[in-house]
Amino acid sequence: MTTTENNEGDDEFQRFHLCLDGCKRGFLQGCRYVVGLDGCHLKGCHKGVLLTAVGIDPNDHLFLIVYAIVETENKNSWKWFGEELKCDLEIIDESIWAFITDKQKGLVQAIQDVLSGVEHRMCLRHMYNNFKKQHLGLALKERIWVVARASYRDRFAGLESLKEFDKGAYNWYTVDLISRCCSCRKWDLNGIPCAHAIVAICDTGEESEKFVHDYYSKEAYMRAYEPMINPMNAEQMWKNSDMLPVLPLENIKLPGRPRKAR
Ligand SMILES: [Zn+2]
Repeated sequence: MTTTENNEGDDEFQRFHLCLDGCKRGFLQGCRYVVGLDGCHLKGCHKGVLLTAVGIDPNDHLFLIVYAIVETENKNSWKWFGEELKCDLEIIDESIWAFITDKQKGLVQAIQDVLSGVEHRMCLRHMYNNFKKQHLGLALKERIWVVARASYRDRFAGLESLKEFDKGAYNWYTVDLISRCCSCRKWDLNGIPCAHAIVAICDTGEESEKFVHDYYSKEAYMRAYEPMINPMNAEQMWKNSDMLPVLPLENIKLPGRPRKAR
């Protein structure tokens, strides 16, 4: 936790960050190194902003890694959160990590400053929420998702006439069973053999399940949830500290125009 000194010289809450050992170890030993970052305003009496870092477990569910409460959401607080996270997860080789964020308030710049070597992608759900304000319609929405899911350049450019699962299309792709990749790049991206790879695997007489990445296995799931998070005693049983109490956050002015009372 960090504090700031207020005008009266007392310590005032500034930021707090929590990474439970069980969450950290579970994530590192059971989940792909893909991290989503997001923030939201707290509506309680002391306000502030909640920042979170989450992963995805082997069963495709959210997996909490770290959370923090900060005075406000800006480049400085995201940079601080990024540095704490980098330290918690012992990120040294940034090239094996991927981060997904929206474009909000200093977050993009903070990632560039603190985690410049990671793969940084934008969350399409957030981008679409802005996009639809000016471009409504189901047809456009569906098209956006097709383009976003494109795993190779021609598909991204809208090469829709190609029927991927036709015999001709199958011949067009190159599958490499040893390095577990296909030129359609779907297998490389999600670790599950694509249709082209499954055909190639069947040709060898092997079972295609054996070629699915270990991250989807029951063993990986067990590794993610194996570390224990011990319960703690109720607040009434906590020992009193002889440190001076920290004052709560002062009322913070939120960005934007103040609301008018009507
Ligand atoms: Zn393929």
